[in-house]
Amino acid sequence: MKSDIIIIGGGAAGLMAAYGAAKANFGAKIIILEKMPRPGRKILFTGKGRCNFTNAKPWNEFSKHIRTNPNFVKPSFYNFTPDDMINFLETNGLETVVERGDRAFPYSHRASDVLDTIVETVLRQGVTLLTEREVEEIRPGYEVRCSNGETFSAPKLIIATGGLSYPMTGSSGDGYKWAGFLGHKIISCFPSLTALVPRGYKVSDGREPEMKGHINRETPMTGAGEALKGAKLKNINLTVTYDGGVTETEFGDIDFTDGGIEGPIGFQVSRKCVKTLLNGGKVAFSLDLKPGVPLEELSDRVKTLWNEIRNDPRTRQAKDGRGINGKEMYRILLGKLMPWDLIPGFQTWNPDILKISAKKNSQRRFYDVNLDLLAKTLKDWKFDIAGFVGYERCVITAGGVSTDEVVAKTMESKLREGLYFCGEILDMDCDTGGYNLQCAFSTGFLAGQSAAKSLSQND
Ligand SMILES: Cc1cc2nc3c(=O)[nH]c(=O)nc-3n(C[C@H](O)[C@H](O)[C@H](O)COP(=O)(O)OP(=O)(O)OC[C@H]3O[C@@H](n4cnc5c(N)ncnc54)[C@H](O)[C@@H]3O)c2cc1C
Repeated sequence: MKSDIIIIGGGAAGLMAAYGAAKANFGAKIIILEKMPRPGRKILFTGKGRCNFTNAKPWNEFSKHIRTNPNFVKPSFYNFTPDDMINFLETNGLETVVERGDRAFPYSHRASDVLDTIVETVLRQGVTLLTEREVEEIRPGYEVRCSNGETFSAPKLIIATGGLSYPMTGSSGDGYKWAGFLGHKIISCFPSLTALVPRGYKVSDGREPEMKGHINRETPMTGAGEALKGAKLKNINLTVTYDGGVTETEFGDIDFTDGGIEGPIGFQVSRKCVKTLLNGGKVAFSLDLKPGVPLEELSDRVKTLWNEIRNDPRTRQAKDGRGINGKEMYRILLGKLMPWDLIPGFQTWNPDILKISAKKNSQRRFYDVNLDLLAKTLKDWKFDIAGFVGYERCVITAGGVSTDEVVAKTMESKLREGLYFCGEILDMDCDTGGYNLQCAFSTGFLAGQSAAKSLSQND
C-alpha cells in the first residue's frame, strides 16, 4: 500500500506525529502502523492510571528536568508547548487540571480519557490507524514490511516505536535495530526511573544477571523485604553515596514497594544509581527520617519520650498491674517517631537497637533499648543497594538514537532524507512530572509537521 507518510508506532509520539502531519498538510495520506491491538497502551499506565500528561513549567524550568541534551528538545518544545497540549485536549473536549508541581492531569484523573481524546482527534483528521501490524523490516526509500506479509511504502517514514520499558505495552526496542541498520548511532540504553533494591530485600539465587545489577521485579522478597513493603516515608532526606565517594542529598518522599525503593526521590536518583551499578560500582543509601532536627536534639527528644512512656500510669497499670515490658515500650516509642506501618520494617532492619537478654535458669527476658543508637539510626539509616528493577517495570529508557544525528528543528535524520525519529526512541529522558510525555508529544508533533511540510515542498 502506498501513502505519503508512514508512522511506525501508535504511542504518544506516533499519534501526535500523525496529528502534526495532518494539521500541516490536510489531505496527505498518513498511515500509523501499530503492533498492538489498540494504540497508546502505555498511556493507560501513566501517572498510576491518572496520566500526568504534561508539566506546565516554562522552558527555563522545564529544561532542568531533561537529563540528556535539553537543547535538542528546545525547538520542538517551543513549536508545541505544554500549553498547546493542554489546549489540544481542552478544545477536543477533555477538561484538564494543573496540580502541585505544575503537573497536568485530565480533570477526570482517567488516563483512558487522554488516550481516547488523542485517538479520536487524530482519526478525525483522516489519518489511517492500522493495529496488529508489527513492522519487521524497513528498506530505504521507504518500504516497510509487517509480520503478516503486508508491505507499505512512502517517501517519508517516522519511527516512533518508543524504548524498552514496560514491554507488555508493545515497546520492545524494535526501532533501535532499524535505526542502526539505517546508519544511526545508538547510545547504550539502560533503565531509568526505576526501583532500587536494598541488599537483603530480595532472595538472591546467586546467578549473575544478563545486565549487571538487574534484579527482576518478580524475584521473591525476603522476610525483611516483606516487613518494609508498603511503608511510605514523607519529607525525609535521602543521601546517596556513589562508589564510597561522591554524595547527593534529595529531600522528599520514598515508598518501599515489592520492587524496592521507589517514590519521587527514589526515582530522582535512580538514573545515576543504575549507571553506577551497571559499571560495577557501589551505591549506598542513608535515610534521615528527621531532617529538620539535629542529632543531639533528637537524642534528647527520644530520651524524654522514653521517660514519659516509662512514667505513664497506663504503662505501669497495664497487664493487671504487672506493667508492660521494654519491648512493648519500645514499640510505643517508635509509634511516636515514625508511621505505624514502618515499625515492623524498622525493627527488622535495625535489630541492634533492642537487646534481649535472660538470666541463667530464668524464663524472664530483659529488654534494653539503646536510645542513642535509635536516634542515630533515625538520622542515618543505612542501606547497601544491591541492584535495580529492569525494563520489565521501569518508567523510561535512557539512551537511544543519538540526537547528534537528528536535526532538532525538524526531527529529520541528518543521514537519510525523509526519515524522522520522535519520542522515547531518541536519546532523551526526563524526571517524573509529565516531562517525558510532553517531550514525546513535542518531538512527535514536530516530526509529523516537518514530514508533511517537506511533502508539499517536494510537490
Ligand atoms: C508505568 C509508566 C508510567 C509513566 N507515567 C508517566 C507520566 O505520568 N507522565 C509522563 O510524562 N510520562 C510517563 N511515563 C513515560 C511515558 O509513558 C513515555 O515517555 C511515553 O509513552 C513515550 O512515548 P513514545 O510514543 O515514544 O513510546 P511508546 O509509548 O512506548 O509507544 C511506542 C509504540 O510503538 C509500538 N511499536 C513498537 N514496536 C513496533 C513495531 N515493530 N511495529 C509496530 N508498532 C510498534 C508500540 O506498541 C507502542 O504502541 C510513564 C511510563 C511508564 C512505563
